[in-house]
Amino acid sequence: MNIGFVAAEVAPYSKAGGLADVAGSLPQAISAYVSEVHVFTPLYGVIDAQKHNIVMSGIVGTVRLGEFDVPYSVDQINASKNGVKIWFIKSEKYFSRNGIYTEANGEGYEDNNQRFIFFQLVMLDLLIREKFKINVLHCNDHHTGLLPSLIKAVGLKIRTVFTIHNFLYQGHFSNVDRQLLPEGLYPFLTKTQWDNYSALLEGVDHADIVNTVSPGYAQELLDGNDLDEHSLSRIRSASKRFSGIINGIDMETWNPSSDSYTPFHFSIDSLAGKAENKQALLKMTGLDSDINAPVLGSISRLVENKGFLLILEVLDEFVAQGAKFIFLGSGDPGIAKQLQSASQKHPGRIAFDNGYNEPLAHLIESGCDMFLMPSRFEPCGLNQLYSLRYGTIPIVNKTGGLGDTVQNWKLNSGTGFVFEPYSAEMLRDALARALTTFKNKKEWATLVRSAMLQNYSWDQSAKKYIELYQS
Ligand code: ADP
Repeated sequence: MNIGFVAAEVAPYSKAGGLADVAGSLPQAISAYVSEVHVFTPLYGVIDAQKHNIVMSGIVGTVRLGEFDVPYSVDQINASKNGVKIWFIKSEKYFSRNGIYTEANGEGYEDNNQRFIFFQLVMLDLLIREKFKINVLHCNDHHTGLLPSLIKAVGLKIRTVFTIHNFLYQGHFSNVDRQLLPEGLYPFLTKTQWDNYSALLEGVDHADIVNTVSPGYAQELLDGNDLDEHSLSRIRSASKRFSGIINGIDMETWNPSSDSYTPFHFSIDSLAGKAENKQALLKMTGLDSDINAPVLGSISRLVENKGFLLILEVLDEFVAQGAKFIFLGSGDPGIAKQLQSASQKHPGRIAFDNGYNEPLAHLIESGCDMFLMPSRFEPCGLNQLYSLRYGTIPIVNKTGGLGDTVQNWKLNSGTGFVFEPYSAEMLRDALARALTTFKNKKEWATLVRSAMLQNYSWDQSAKKYIELYQS
């Protein structure tokens, strides 16, 4: 069985969120069970070809996009990485600019629909020309949502799996964008109630198998939490082909005993390094150096659904109780502004780094005592998994993957602090429980140990994907 894995972001080459982490690590985990794994992704300007040893493959082609013929070429990484070959689709017109989806100021590119329709037509062209022998094509999120129907439309004998990493981002496109597809390739498309098309729902309709990234989120989608009628009826039509598989983590990149961004390594049997990382983190972020006070971290895209409204509501009271906070994130300027003012109001107590910062993300995981992740919804979530491994106790809303992976600490058992329903009042309650527990050093040590004993490697989940491919 040969697997093709298609994604708009793949870590460590390009990353905007959790999709990249999954696309960087799941293919490696499945490669042990199948003959070949090929990953396909755009070659964005931001990717350092020299650093990653990316070279020309010699494959070139042209696809028809509306009235224009658009050329493409395919680059590759010279060696296979843990059994996986990585292929980059190169296009001067669509992918040479730096951003993955947005300008430097965070604004989405106007031609994003065109860019990803182009990407999918290139994939189709490569498959039609049999440049790769693929039995199952694993598509991810709306940027690849049209591929299952395109593959059907041209009669290719390739099976498709479509994974929803976040249902919120549907990739709506207009009739004008639709006409970029060659006539005859779009008879299957279904209009939404807004008189446009949803690339995500097309994937749901036409893939042989559909899944999402946790059992909890799969159930929430089928229950219709927060969904409009139209989306709900389409997801429910796929219910017999639909399941949830929890994401794993890259155990090499996120390993406290060898993390290259972590100054002091530590493990469950030797935690001294964690305290030293805390000191280093406080120093680096300009927070008061008192090592005994609890430090809470947050690493997140700044969007409403990550729970910032709740956090901002309770922040002052917990600072008053002695807690310190470190926020790392980029996105919504309104949320950034509020975090900025909070940090100015409480110098030494709240730090905010408004940007994307991989080294700091690792230091936050290694140096904080707790990790704040009160998302309104969360398909899987990765930072709570990194946090468990780093003994940084997660405080989460019981939703989607957060509810599946963090067990509330009670009667000396559990791995974090879980609250529900989604409200500032319940977050306040969870934070109070966390801070009270933190004061009891012995109990806290038991909790840290219990968190660090969790295993969210890809082993189990990769086997579940193999079962999907085989089915
Ligand atoms: P989502 O995919 O919704 O953004 P996840 O928790 O699944 O959320 O994954 C987010 C990933 O992006 C994590 O690996 C996280 O560490 C990383 N990340 C998010 N924001 C930043 C940032 N500002 N700097 C560094 N890493 C970030």
